Amino acid sequence: MASLQSLPVEILFHILAFTGPFRRISPHDDPLCNLAASSKLLQDVVEAYARGLLKQRKSVVLKRRRGEPYRKTWRRWVSNTCQTCKKKSVRAAILDPGVTCCVNCDRKIPKMTKTDAVTKHHLSLLDLFTPNFLHPDLPPVTSGEYMCMGGMATMILTEDVLARKQYIVEQTGNQDESFLHKRQNLLTKVQRDLRLYYKGGRWWLEGRLGMDTTELLLQFLNVKENVRKTIENPRAHLGLSLEARRQVADAVVSFLKAVESSQSNSLRMRLPAGLSAS
Ligand SMILES: [Zn+2]
Repeated sequence: MASLQSLPVEILFHILAFTGPFRRISPHDDPLCNLAASSKLLQDVVEAYARGLLKQRKSVVLKRRRGEPYRKTWRRWVSNTCQTCKKKSVRAAILDPGVTCCVNCDRKIPKMTKTDAVTKHHLSLLDLFTPNFLHPDLPPVTSGEYMCMGGMATMILTEDVLARKQYIVEQTGNQDESFLHKRQNLLTKVQRDLRLYYKGGRWWLEGRLGMDTTELLLQFLNVKENVRKTIENPRAHLGLSLEARRQVADAVVSFLKAVESSQSNSLRMRLPAGLSAS
């Protein structure tokens, strides 16, 4: 029976090109290291592949430590070198933590703060951080966080903000700035009523600690009722048909449940064994 090990080396090299060799990852998660650990044959193939990658960068080969496997030299180089200008840097790109990128190169990537996307482009956080109950089929925008003046700032790729604004204009059939501003205010109110906030690349629920499942469900149904009244109000500036508003209100509870469940899982993972997250 054919197996990975019985494939010709050229094909194995082709497969290895899909392992993201230019991404900075821990040795634990590095597919090259994991493959090399699985058999002697694959270790030899990975070494030959990493040697080939290094050969294209002669200065790196010169810095290779004595006896160090080629795959380790390669991973060290990827983690310590800006992948745009190839100067020394250990910094991760704001919008893609898997890529090493120096400050100068990162500055050239057009991006804006979450606050600018809201105030200058009248997009609510529910419009930006998708998918959610308002936009269940929209993919996420490219975003990332970085430390700024003692706090975390969220940055979003400018191109994605502009494309999202264009989408909202098309969806609502209205590009009037005052309409978009009122719409954003309304959706910000909905988000706050739901006690949702966005941090670390995901949605969270405020004040859920200590509540049991029944209490939580009652709270979700209560807030859903408030949200339904807000968004089904005919004078609400949303640019959606009544039917579409009903669909949004109906999707609220399952979205809150999904946020709550992933929040509980993530808290449970961070707590020491024996402690409960509820
Ligand atoms: Zn650079």
